[in-house]
Amino acid sequence: MLRMPEFEVHHPTTPEEAVALRAELPGSMYVAGGTDLLPNLKHRLHEPPHLIALSRLSGLDRIEQDPDGSLILGASTPLAALAGSELLAASVPGLVEAAASIAGPQHRRMGTLGGNVMLDTRCLFYNQSRPWRQAVGGCLKKDGDWCHVIGSAKACVAAQSSDTVPMLVALDARLRALLPGGERRELPLLELFSRDGRFEQRHTLPPEALITHVHVPSPGAGHRSTYRKVRARSAVDYPQLSIALAATLEGERCTALQVVIGAMLPQPRPVPGLHALIGEALTDEVCEAIAEKAYKAARPQPQLHGEPSWRRHLCRIETRRGLQQLRSGPQPR
Ligand SMILES: Cc1cc2nc3c(=O)[nH]c(=O)nc-3n(C[C@H](O)[C@H](O)[C@H](O)COP(=O)(O)OP(=O)(O)OC[C@H]3O[C@@H](n4cnc5c(N)ncnc54)[C@H](O)[C@@H]3O)c2cc1C
Repeated sequence: MLRMPEFEVHHPTTPEEAVALRAELPGSMYVAGGTDLLPNLKHRLHEPPHLIALSRLSGLDRIEQDPDGSLILGASTPLAALAGSELLAASVPGLVEAAASIAGPQHRRMGTLGGNVMLDTRCLFYNQSRPWRQAVGGCLKKDGDWCHVIGSAKACVAAQSSDTVPMLVALDARLRALLPGGERRELPLLELFSRDGRFEQRHTLPPEALITHVHVPSPGAGHRSTYRKVRARSAVDYPQLSIALAATLEGERCTALQVVIGAMLPQPRPVPGLHALIGEALTDEVCEAIAEKAYKAARPQPQLHGEPSWRRHLCRIETRRGLQQLRSGPQPR
């Protein structure tokens, strides 16, 4: 049986108090819904002496819309609230699809947006029990100095495996965070992620940073978005690969397009070179050219289940399917 390590739980009621506690208590960690962190504690991936619970922070569990149409999503918003939001379904349907695809109903009731954004990177050599990890001598991400996936000591390629992140990046979302000393910082979500999947290095914000909100700019008229997730089972499973698509269509013409690949490397990967196709109609030929660009941009590693060449191939197929859905599928209600 996997047992929980011992820790003391603190219950701040304001974001400021939470950040101050996190800075004061060495080795402490935030816990929101606990659906990622608590299994990781049982696997002894972390042994924090203190947990700063975020469940009593007020005012961070709301989905709001500014008069300009942009959306402000509180970090404590449960995934189930995102998945069930009429407002989001009407404005950014891809985000609703992404949230609804996460784990199972119980996880979505407990799990939060903030926890999903800050989800630890995942790898077959890391998400294992301590005896399993000890048997291979640890790895670059935990208790070792060698990445078994790429056979190198240079980089950890554990995959950013959150489902909302690629979709939010495709929607040009920005993150709002509170830092020690009351400093507030806002940055494009993509800039949160580094190339190094190790726990301490995976984010560009300091470890004490508390995510308070995610800001999604107004999707505007003609917005289309969808989320394609590849996984071993059709429920309660992390992505093996994902494709988030967001576009603006003016009649036949596509005037904006973002395609982002998730669950591939420590950073989500926006497909480059799409600007050349802006202004074109999404014909079969254009969709094929976009799918080819996604295939060329994909560099999956054997850090998750599924042959990398198969996952790469699926990048093309899922991009093609997603584009077809943007052209014809259900869109903002
Ligand atoms: C069986 C199973 C299947 C799952 N399947 C999926 C899946 O398909 N897709 C997916 O994306 N996830 C999946 N998950 C992971 C998890 O359920 C979700 O990612 C969830 O959104 C995590 O949110 P949480 O509130 O529970 O985070 P927690 O577990 O509480 O925290 C996760 C991390 O984020 C940090 N954190 C939390 N909130 C903040 C904040 N506001 N500011 C700064 N740091 C913060 C914590 O310190 C911790 O490091 C699965 C989990 C399980 C157990």
